[in-house]
Amino acid sequence: MTFHPRHLVNQRSQGICEICANPHPVTHHHHRQPTDIHPTPAGMLLLCAPCHTATHTNPTKSHTNGWLINDHTNPASVPVLRHNRTVLLTDDGTITDLPGPLNQTPDEDDYPIRQVTI
Ligand SMILES: [Zn+2]
Repeated sequence: MTFHPRHLVNQRSQGICEICANPHPVTHHHHRQPTDIHPTPAGMLLLCAPCHTATHTNPTKSHTNGWLINDHTNPASVPVLRHNRTVLLTDDGTITDLPGPLNQTPDEDDYPIRQVTI
């Protein structure tokens, strides 16, 4: 059975922002490679509006955390800081935890948004 990539991203995220875990309306299918018109599930993150804005206003941090990646790079090969874990996203819509030193507690400012005021 084949799913549209966005469907797989929706399943993977369970409707929760993949950066800050904010369950508030999450509407942005963020393209990790902004020029990638038809990204695979590994090339997308479901984000809340503040995180989506922050990924683009802090591109250096976003590249460090895998939220933005360079063209001609396989998104499935670039670790992503997702919630409190460093993971690899796969093209079948699953997540692989990376073991070892990459999974340290992130600094406070690793997350662009800690709380959102409604
Ligand atoms: Zn968020």
